[in-house]
Order: sequence, then structure tokens, then C-alpha cells
Amino acid sequence: MSPTLDSVRELDRRDPLADFKARFALPEGVIYLDGNSLGAQPVDAREALAATRDQWRDELIKGWNQGWFDAPERLGDLLAPLIGAAAGEVIVNDNISINIFKLLGYITESQGRSRPVILSEGGNFPTDGYIAQGLCRLAGFEHRVLPEGAELADYLDERVAAVVLSQVNYRTGRQRDMAAITAQVHERGAEVVWDLAHSAGALPVDLNGSGARYAVGCTYKYLNGGPGAPAFIYVHKDHQEGGWQPLSGWHGHAAPFAFDGDYAPAPGVTRFRSGTHSALIYAPLEASLRLWQEVDMAALREKSLALGELFRDCLADLLEAEGIEDITPAQAERGSQVAFIHREHGYAIVQALIARGVIGDYREPGLMRFGFTPLYLSYEDVWQAARHFREVVESREYLEARFQVRSEVT
Ligand SMILES: *Cc1c(COP(=O)(O)O)cnc(C)c1O
Repeated sequence: MSPTLDSVRELDRRDPLADFKARFALPEGVIYLDGNSLGAQPVDAREALAATRDQWRDELIKGWNQGWFDAPERLGDLLAPLIGAAAGEVIVNDNISINIFKLLGYITESQGRSRPVILSEGGNFPTDGYIAQGLCRLAGFEHRVLPEGAELADYLDERVAAVVLSQVNYRTGRQRDMAAITAQVHERGAEVVWDLAHSAGALPVDLNGSGARYAVGCTYKYLNGGPGAPAFIYVHKDHQEGGWQPLSGWHGHAAPFAFDGDYAPAPGVTRFRSGTHSALIYAPLEASLRLWQEVDMAALREKSLALGELFRDCLADLLEAEGIEDITPAQAERGSQVAFIHREHGYAIVQALIARGVIGDYREPGLMRFGFTPLYLSYEDVWQAARHFREVVESREYLEARFQVRSEVT
């Protein structure tokens, strides 16, 4: 039986995370189920952005000595506990694509270029594979693809330098066993670069506890850093002195203001910096990461799963009647999203929902994604979103011509 409105309101009254919702500036009338693509705006982030704008006006170049220059390390240390890393193991900068390039270049260099193959996974967010391809072309390496559903062990031989894997798949929301896979890859003498785009801020991540040496992730999705907020890069403390990373720019130099003619990598994770970053976009992210310090990740995980289950429970009979496939993995193997497939009308259903203020997103082919962000979604929000979904589908509202038009960003 479908949950009642009274029963979900009772869940909200008992929710230990309920107070966080007021810390976000959400537009009136919107139920936001797309925090897995671009997180909502924390009130503190908005204020921090305005303060940095004024700091630029008032302090000019002095701002770089007032916290702008060391923001990558400072924010990295703030982020570290959220992903099971230690201080000095994370910096925040660039984007995931660039950071994967840096790590793959660094790993192959550290191995003395003795292993000429880089493996990426089919079905992952494409940029991870594109970057592996780009590096392979440049370095004369071979790019190999692990097909979706294939056994990793069959693709790991003594030629493989590194494999790039997502902890949580962006389409299906399926979560990999980070500790087991890391051990398996290390046993074969290769390295794994974990992509945490859909796990950082979505669930408790334990890089150190999983034996992980290298990871990247972004901060504009679940971590609510803002559009284009910088990504992060994690390198375990025992693996930070391996050599150069290929984007050997001046901010990663041991003495950037000595203006030496030759590059010398900075000690520690700082060598993974390249050049000047945008101080403006670090400010809202820092405010958001401070908010995250208050979050109990176990409570977050519990509510994330409960919200996803509520959405599925409200819609189970409808999905079955309409032939919409629910590909959401079992709870233990899930990230923080629910995924349905309707090949013919998935896109239009998502557009019709957006017109009603229920914002999810669409990925080819046929995939409707709904992200659950426990800090700013209530149980009632999710119940109302399911009600809209039911109305859109049962009334065939999605067949209207205006919902068939494709925009550039879906
Ligand atoms: C969102 C996402 C990215 C984004 O890469 P950028 O270079 O930061 O734009 C990369 N990988 C995965 C798995 C993602 O989900």
C-alpha cells in the first residue's frame, strides 16, 4: 500500500537532519531531485560569494595572502573527513577530467612507464575514458575498455598500469566494493583511480579504510559547491612522492615564487596543483564544506536510502502498469539516486515534471534519474514528487508537444 501524507509528515517530524533544509536557499515551488548533477545553494555559500566579491574590490592583490592562495589545501583538509582521508591527502582544484589526467600521468611516471595499458570502464561517465584515451595518444600507451558487466580480473594483466573506476555509476547508481576491488587491482601490480563524483557527499566514503591510493571527485554535485566549483584529488600520504604529474605548472612547484627556470615538484599533495585558480568559486564551496562538518554521515545515508525507497514505494504499482523499468540497485549496492527507464517517453516525462517544478534529469537512452539529497529534501517533498510523477504519467501530460523539444543540457 502506498504511504499516506500523514505518515510521511510523521517521518519529517522525527528526522534528525530536518533542520538543514533551512540552511539552503531553494526557490519557491521547486522540488529538487537533481542535486546529483548540481547541488542546491547553501545560504552561507551565497554570503561567502558576496564577501569574496567585496574582498576583491577592497583588498585587490592582497587577497591572495588572505586565504586565496592556499585555498586548494585548506578546502582539501575540510573535505578529507567526508571521504575517509587524512589532512594533507586532498587538494581541491581543477575539474575531474584534468585531475584524472594528472593522476594517470603521475602513476605511469611513478611506475617508470613499465606498463603501457590504461583501462577504463564502459558505461562510466564518458569523460573518464576520454581522458584515458587522450593520455594514451600522447604517451603512446594502449587504451583498453572494461565492458559493462565484465569481470575486472579478466582485464588485469602485467601490462595494465591503472584502471579508472567510478565508485557509484552515474546512470544506474550502482556502487562498487571499493575495498575489495582496490585489493584486487593492487595484487596485480596496477593502480586504481577512484572517481567519487556520485559518492562524495552522497554516502560515507572510506578511502583510507579501503586501501585506496588515488581518487578524484567533484564538489558541485552532492557537495553543493556551486556551478563549476573545483574538483578534488586524493593521493594517499605514502604515494605522494612518486614523481611528476604531467601538468607541471607553477602552483605545483616546490617554490612557486622563486620563479626558477626548472620545475621541481612541491612536496606532498600540493604537487597536484597546476596554475591559478578562481578564488571567487572557492568561497561558496568553503562555506558549503563547513556546513558538511556538521553532518552525521551515517544519518545521511539512512535518510538517503529511506527517501529513495519512499519514492519507489509510492510508484511501484504505476511503474508496473505503465511498463516503466526500475533499475535501481538493492540498497546495499546503491548510491543516492533512483533510476527508471522508459525508452520512448523518458525524456518527455522528465520535461513534464520539470514544468511542474519537480526537477530530475534525463540521460540517454531512456533513463530518468532522481537524486536524493537528505540535507534539503523532506519526506513530504519526495511524496509530492511521486504524486506529480503519477499525475504526469496517468494523464499522458508528457505527450504535449512542448515536452518533446530537446535542450542542450539535459
Ligand atoms: C560529473 C562527472 C564528471 C565530471 O567531470 P568534470 O571534468 O568535472 O566536468 C566526471 N566523472 C563522473 C563519473 C561524473 O559523474
